[in-house]
Amino acid sequence: MIIRTKVVATVGPASSSPEMLEALARAGVDVFRINFSHGDEQTHEQSLRNIRAVEAKIGEPIAVMGDLCGPKIRVGKIAGEKFTLKAGATLTIQSEPIEGTAGRISTTLAELPAEAAVGQTILINDGAIRLEVVEVRPPREIVCLVKVGGELSSGKGVNLPDTVLSLPAMTEKDRRDAAWIAAREFDYVALSFVRTARDIEGLRDVLNAAGCGAKVVAKIEKPQALENIESIIDAADVVMVARGDLGVEMDLPAVPFAQKRIARLCQERGKCCIIATQMLESMTHSPVPTRAEVSDVANAVLDATDAVMLSGETAVGEYPVAAVEIMNRIGAQAQAYYDRQNPDPHVAYAPARTEASLAAAVHKIVEAEPVAAVAVFTMTGTTARMFAKHRPACPILGLTTDVKTARGMCLYYGVVPVTVAPCHHTREVLAMAADLAVKKGLAKQGDRIVVVSGRPLGAPGNTNTLVIHTIE
Ligand code: PEP
Repeated sequence: MIIRTKVVATVGPASSSPEMLEALARAGVDVFRINFSHGDEQTHEQSLRNIRAVEAKIGEPIAVMGDLCGPKIRVGKIAGEKFTLKAGATLTIQSEPIEGTAGRISTTLAELPAEAAVGQTILINDGAIRLEVVEVRPPREIVCLVKVGGELSSGKGVNLPDTVLSLPAMTEKDRRDAAWIAAREFDYVALSFVRTARDIEGLRDVLNAAGCGAKVVAKIEKPQALENIESIIDAADVVMVARGDLGVEMDLPAVPFAQKRIARLCQERGKCCIIATQMLESMTHSPVPTRAEVSDVANAVLDATDAVMLSGETAVGEYPVAAVEIMNRIGAQAQAYYDRQNPDPHVAYAPARTEASLAAAVHKIVEAEPVAAVAVFTMTGTTARMFAKHRPACPILGLTTDVKTARGMCLYYGVVPVTVAPCHHTREVLAMAADLAVKKGLAKQGDRIVVVSGRPLGAPGNTNTLVIHTIE
């Protein structure tokens, strides 16, 4: 069975070996994420090399995503590495770096004291520690009251949900990492803490200037991004609901509804969606997930996401392969339910182009008659993405002569990407589609497939032919 929901797995110490990467790919990982918040260039280079070797060995395209840290603020060095902050105590945050103690710390953002205002909240360690700013001593210090205490250690994340920070969208490290990524075989580049469409355009400019055509992923983890969500979706190729930081920056119970809104808008605007973080969190240390986690993954599929993501489960977890396997088993159940319900996929983006009209027609055909698979010849992957947005109840064979396009399609719901040799005659198109549909186990003799291609052959942007073909 082809599992239509794609799986993104984060690479880390638990998963970067060639053996484990191969096991994960065979278990059903479609996209590997290399997180630039951890590791160094040497480990990233080795992971990338290992993934490309696995891809060559198993003969299936695999996409790789580089995930830039963005302007994440962290606690500075703490003397003795950690201490416990007690509720009711005061804590001064200063601009100059110091070795922090129970009364005074610094962060990686020297401007933080200048930007925070009295009454605002500061959260540390994924919201576990909560501070309230009670006094501003401009421009170098603020005094905070500890509302909820906890253990504080070096490098913990700091969030200021109420403060509109004047931070650049990309730090110096992000620019260096983006240049490094642009020179290598990455397919997607994600930017953390996106606030506006301009942030996405800035990253795209950096990549384009380096001659890199990787697609751009907007990580939605700030309330400010939700305010600008439509323009961010339009500027990005993919949107990730990054529930980790989003759940710290906004009221946690509001996150599921932000997820539904973002997934729906991605459907309407023809863009790819990834739902991420804590999907099978308990599997970091347990071979089976909780009932609530299984339900969460299934509901993400029903929200019409293209992909679900594993973070710590595969990066540092004890059961990375089991996590991927269960994710795919949930995907199988959820797609069967989705097909029975056959909900409106809410694809509302203007079908002004022939490809969009063909996508709508294919959806109607698949609804009306038995079709084993849809095969689409695509040069950039755009037509396959449009077909995927309609979430037809059968797999989409994405056929392309460009290996980069094939890798890009790994993220699209229901698309099975295959790199093919160019067709020289139109009669080869049907034969190739039928042959590959059978070889990939999507169809058998006597089945009908829908084949969409362009004539004349090989010219981009001319998808104009739809054939309903019975495999002989
Ligand atoms: C998140 O915060 O949900 C997220 C995906 O980002 P990261 O894993 O990079 O912290």
